[in-house]
Amino acid sequence: MSFASLDLIDGLLRTLESIGYKTPTPVQKQAIPAILAGRDLLAAAQTGTGKTAAFALPLLQRLAMEGGQAAPNHIRCLVLVPTRELADQVYQSFHTYGFNLPLRSAVAYGGVPMEPQLAKLRKGVDVLVATPGRLLDLHRKGALEFTQLQALVLDEADRMLDLGFADDLDLLFAALPAVRQTLLFSATMPDTIRAMAKQLLREPLSVQASAPNTAAHTVRQMVFTTDKRHKPDLFLHLLRKQGWGQVLVFVKTRKGVEQLVGLLQGEGIAADSIHGDKPQLARIKALKRFKANAVQVLVATDVAARGLDIEALPLVVNFDLPTVAEDYVHRIGRTGRAGATGQAISLVCADEVELLRAVEKLTGAVLPRAEEAGFEADHRVPSTGTAVAQAVRGTTKPARSAAKPVNTAKPAKPAKPAPKQDDTPRPAGGFGGLKEDLPPKEKQRPRGPIYGARSGSPGAGTGGQRGRDGAAGGKVMVTATRGAKSTARAAGRAAAKTGGRGNKR
Ligand code: AMP
Repeated sequence: MSFASLDLIDGLLRTLESIGYKTPTPVQKQAIPAILAGRDLLAAAQTGTGKTAAFALPLLQRLAMEGGQAAPNHIRCLVLVPTRELADQVYQSFHTYGFNLPLRSAVAYGGVPMEPQLAKLRKGVDVLVATPGRLLDLHRKGALEFTQLQALVLDEADRMLDLGFADDLDLLFAALPAVRQTLLFSATMPDTIRAMAKQLLREPLSVQASAPNTAAHTVRQMVFTTDKRHKPDLFLHLLRKQGWGQVLVFVKTRKGVEQLVGLLQGEGIAADSIHGDKPQLARIKALKRFKANAVQVLVATDVAARGLDIEALPLVVNFDLPTVAEDYVHRIGRTGRAGATGQAISLVCADEVELLRAVEKLTGAVLPRAEEAGFEADHRVPSTGTAVAQAVRGTTKPARSAAKPVNTAKPAKPAKPAPKQDDTPRPAGGFGGLKEDLPPKEKQRPRGPIYGARSGSPGAGTGGQRGRDGAAGGKVMVTATRGAKSTARAAGRAAAKTGGRGNKR
């Protein structure tokens, strides 16, 4: 199937050709005709499935075909996203896809001066991409009118609720015209999102671009079990031994991020960070440098887990497992995008076994484990299921908790008869597994606040951007790099001095 067969106009087809998009992805095939026809949409689509083009292309076409212009301080289409980075990215996509169309787009988020955003809005904007907090501020200032608004997109809606935007969203929905087209994209479909969809959408087309809560099947996933205090040195050791190129690393706390960056920079490795304590401009700069390959290791809290589209990123490392299992799926979604292959490695210590269990439960797969010589866990990470040992490379040893030892030089034979529990990621993510169904008719618009932030999520109920990085607290980074057990033990001593395992989060 070609984009032309989806009835896209010439201006868009020329752009798609010039950027090398040949065939629509499954979510695009389903969503584009429906959106062009003016339907509401509920899409379970994780990042990497091509969901941005799935809504941007038809919305741009509708606006262009309709002609006309946004009046000063008016917008015709609003795209709400959870994070500033995603706002920039989605805005860039609209800018790219709409290159040949006479439409104006703009982006608005907090943490940067408001004046340039006000200036853009003054002229009127066809497509505004925004985070909820700044959007409300602009509206309260009278810089933004919604009477011309025809289409609303909620992108990564589950994440918006996780980040505590529920109240802001309620206020916004109350201010928007009742007659409009609404598109809701969410990687996961918790009850809060279903309730939101029920209230906001009218007879939506329901599209599922991947099985919910599964990681893209093009991402090879594994776990290195170790002790918490070994993690910094194990990371450095693997980086060198496995010759890692660019890597995106997720660390639980902002302090932990900076400590790891300090360690890496001290070792002469080009590293930078993204987290909620960093000014927005510094975050944008770090991301730009990473995308331009001027930075090898980008260390981030979960603020970077969603939406970042970094071309051909080969590897994501979970230095810490996320406290919300869904974030695992989003984190590793930074690699293996658009059908490319990728790898996701998690460093897991005994304290994190419940988090690992939660990730495996969510994704329906037991992650293969390994241990690296010199960095073995003194505090054994308990088994999380009937995992079957997987083949791993080099001198890497299978974890003690794996079902049976494997010869690491060669692919391992299953140690037992075929396991019931599949220990490879389910082949359901990426561009596969599209399903469509039509839910029962639902014609109601929202009448009041109906959904709250998901309980137990980092930042839930903290309001806007504030809660996005999870708990404060620390890890201890050491600068030894010998990569042997003795080094790890020295690291452990240093950790003990400064708090180490006993540190409160
Ligand atoms: P998204 O899921 O929207 O973040 O998109 C993931 C990546 O897929 C982005 O780099 C897009 O540029 C790319 N992409 C989206 N649609 C297509 C397509 N039809 N063909 C090739 N690449 C695409």
